[in-house]
Amino acid sequence: MATEQKSCAHIDGVKDVRPPARRECEECVKIGSSWVHLRTCQSCGGTRCCDSSPNRHASAHAKSSKHPVIASAEIGERWLYCYPDDAFAEY
Ligand SMILES: [Zn+2]
Ligand SMILES: [Zn+2]
Ligand SMILES: [Zn+2]
Repeated sequence: MATEQKSCAHIDGVKDVRPPARRECEECVKIGSSWVHLRTCQSCGGTRCCDSSPNRHASAHAKSSKHPVIASAEIGERWLYCYPDDAFAEY
């Protein structure tokens, strides 16, 4: 395993990665905003925008709901990230 990839119990607990139900940020759509990249919460399956987006809905959701792990919802990207542990893993 590459040294820059560290995993955690949250990521290890993700057995089947949840794909995005829709390719849009559900929070940005409500407020008419836009996003840069999309991330899918692995606890509830909601898709929200990344930290490069103006509203950072994915990390806000992770904090407020204590859902630790997101997966990239971008086509061709296969990785998981855990917010509380700052852990990253490809799958
Ligand atoms: Zn974790
Ligand atoms: Zn958003
Ligand atoms: Zn969630």
